[in-house]
Amino acid sequence: MRENLTKDMQGALFARPAPPTAASPGADDAVPWDTQPYSIKRHGLSITNCDAEPVRTPGCIQAHGALLVLRLSDLSILQASENTQAILGHEPHELLGHSVAAVVEHDGEVRLRSILATEPTERNPIYAFTLPASEQIAALDVTLHTIDGSAILEFEATGRSQPGAETSPVVSLPRPGPDYYSLIKKTMVRLQTMETGLTLCQSLAEEVRLLSGLDRVMIYKFHADHHGEVFAESCRSDLAPWLGLHYPAGDIPQQARDLLAKTSIRPVPDIHGELAEMMPLLNPDTGMPVDMTFCALRGLSLMHTEYLQNMGVAAGLTMPLLRDNVLWGLISCHHYSGPCHLPYELRAACEFLAQMGSLQLRAVEDRENAAYRLRLEEVNQQLLSMAAQEGGLASMTDGKPSLLGAMHAGGAALFHRDRWWRVGQTPDESQLEALSHWLVGQLDVGSVASPVYATHALAAAYPPGAAFADVASGVLAAPLSRSGQNLMMWFRPEVQKTVNWGGNPHDKPQVTGPHGPRLTPRRSFELFSESVHQQAAPWLPVEIDAAARLRTLIMELVIVRAERLAGLNADLTRSNEELDAFAYVASHDLKEPLRGIYKYAHQLMEAVPANEEEKRKLEGLMRLTLRMDSLLDSLLHFSRVGREELTLEEVDLNEVLADAMEMVGSRTGDGCTEIVALRLLPPIMCDRIRVREVLVNLLSNAIKYNDKVAKRVEVGFVGAHEIALRGAFPAGTEVQTVYYVRDNGIGISSRHFDQVFKMFKRLHGREDFGGGTGAGLTIVRKLVERHRGQVWLESAAGEGSTFFFTLSASDDN
Ligand code: ADP
Repeated sequence: MRENLTKDMQGALFARPAPPTAASPGADDAVPWDTQPYSIKRHGLSITNCDAEPVRTPGCIQAHGALLVLRLSDLSILQASENTQAILGHEPHELLGHSVAAVVEHDGEVRLRSILATEPTERNPIYAFTLPASEQIAALDVTLHTIDGSAILEFEATGRSQPGAETSPVVSLPRPGPDYYSLIKKTMVRLQTMETGLTLCQSLAEEVRLLSGLDRVMIYKFHADHHGEVFAESCRSDLAPWLGLHYPAGDIPQQARDLLAKTSIRPVPDIHGELAEMMPLLNPDTGMPVDMTFCALRGLSLMHTEYLQNMGVAAGLTMPLLRDNVLWGLISCHHYSGPCHLPYELRAACEFLAQMGSLQLRAVEDRENAAYRLRLEEVNQQLLSMAAQEGGLASMTDGKPSLLGAMHAGGAALFHRDRWWRVGQTPDESQLEALSHWLVGQLDVGSVASPVYATHALAAAYPPGAAFADVASGVLAAPLSRSGQNLMMWFRPEVQKTVNWGGNPHDKPQVTGPHGPRLTPRRSFELFSESVHQQAAPWLPVEIDAAARLRTLIMELVIVRAERLAGLNADLTRSNEELDAFAYVASHDLKEPLRGIYKYAHQLMEAVPANEEEKRKLEGLMRLTLRMDSLLDSLLHFSRVGREELTLEEVDLNEVLADAMEMVGSRTGDGCTEIVALRLLPPIMCDRIRVREVLVNLLSNAIKYNDKVAKRVEVGFVGAHEIALRGAFPAGTEVQTVYYVRDNGIGISSRHFDQVFKMFKRLHGREDFGGGTGAGLTIVRKLVERHRGQVWLESAAGEGSTFFFTLSASDDN
């Protein structure tokens, strides 16, 4: 049989049949055991759906042993398996209604009563004694447990004697066999030295094989979606290894998993063995079938048997590996070379190893988890110190380590400073862009608790994710700003792409059981392919924690930086204020002596200078003092603009403009200057006088620095977005309206754009274009900034200039 084992046969450990078709018996809604007690022998073939099979109450046992159900009160026999003649030497009808002493003699009955009185037998099979061999029967190990108010006795051949070989009286301890105790002791020491879950499982597989002598021992691990993986394996050297193969969750259906978690061991010494039905099928006291959950002899579902047969398995032994009472995996043993006697002591030793393995696995997994957590935290700290040093997060994707330094992910991306930074396998930028918009809606960014979003099936929640499921079926995302716009994300590829499935879904089914194509491993694989489609390995709690922690660290860093910046701003404001105060004091106090100088120079002039040279020098002195006086006036004015409170009110800018035009117009009065406003300006909250000053300054410059005969000045406004579209709008402002003053004057070369706003900076000779102090635009900028606005210009030499400015309502300066 084994020689015929194809890869397809390796399909699964337990069977999942094809869903019923219209022609199959399962098409009928009613199942036969709805009306009569279930027995695998009678109804097993009509099973079409694993989930519907009454696996706990199969009504049959494996016929290599015998089973008696006893009434607890008097230990009389209520039910017996139909094969008691072969195993116990009595026909069932000879036993029913009689005391158990009919089988185990008086001594046995006394022993059973003592165990029932003193041991925790409820749902817990306990070895009772070994029934010695007689003329008709072999020596039998007897185990006892209670369930639902009945006692259950199981009889299995010890394998150490043949009928008639021994006639010693009932003994209470197993006779000497292999020294399981010292074997187990050595094994335990070895298991305890294992550092990782993998080495532990590998060692466990080897030890169980050594102990049991079975052909293949697999440590089968369940993933979060219940699909299984051969995580470790020890097998005969001539067998093809199945290590690393994954199997559909449906191969071990939920029912079977629940049952396995409860049973400490599941022996199947002969797959081809007969089944023996219980007589009667129902307990006459309760009217219920026997719950065989804890019976070693429990009869196998025909589907399971058939499936194992298809895989060439002759005998099997299964033990659960539990973590916190939840099924973590299985120790699954196959024997191919023929039926295999699995005596009670051997089973007890294997069972003990499985229990030890479960405990040890937990300890090792906890250690591994702690190490992973530590590694993630270490990398988090390194990422953070790099970010702090470089003043940005870019190093998280191109530095060492990157966001992939410790996290088990295929790729990572970061949105920071208005662009994407990527490392590893990620969706493309447009996909990231759309995904991040969707994520903002999913993330509870304002939440105090961790606002991390984690999914291992993105496309199910976000259908466009199907387009990049191969690289990002799993997404772990954490926002880095309150708005959620800045994000970091990790991606995991689709599971299907990363695991080695136990079979190729495109292969044609090569195996059909004796009952036709009912059992099709390939079919279960197809279903499975569907179920893991667009799914990644789920994110572990430790990974989600690490993402949240990194987020917190980055946010803290940002806050520290913001605080430092706020501190610098406060310093700057203070020194600006001091400068304003100094400028005021200096300009104010300097004016007085300047007046004195001017007065004396004037008096000397009046007193008639000695010669022309002296007269010229005195005139120069007077001119310079006047110039210095006007510079001091500008400085004084500038410092006032910086210090004085704004008077904010709702202002009709059209009136303000009219005033400003009048003031400027009265200065020019040449008749060839045209100042136009194309449309009415919108009302705004501002300081009327200050804004008028801005307009007066800009208008007068527009006229002053103009060599055209027909001077034209246009005042107007545009929506901020129109300007932004041209890329000319400075960043960091949220205002809607941009005002402008445009002239057809001499223009300004772009290299002087910044210069013109500097104090006392003129681009021309002192007296050219009507002279000036070079303070006008500096004051304009100060006034606009006091309104939390900005001022800038567009111009080219000889082509006129346009000065833009914005105003915002509040005055925080
Ligand atoms: P002032 O006009 O007193 O010299 P401003 O600060 O108002 O000082 O202007 C600084 C300089 O910028 C001016 O000297 C001039 O060279 C240049 N400037 C200002 N406005 C214009 C304009 N509309 N067209 C061309 N040049 C200008």
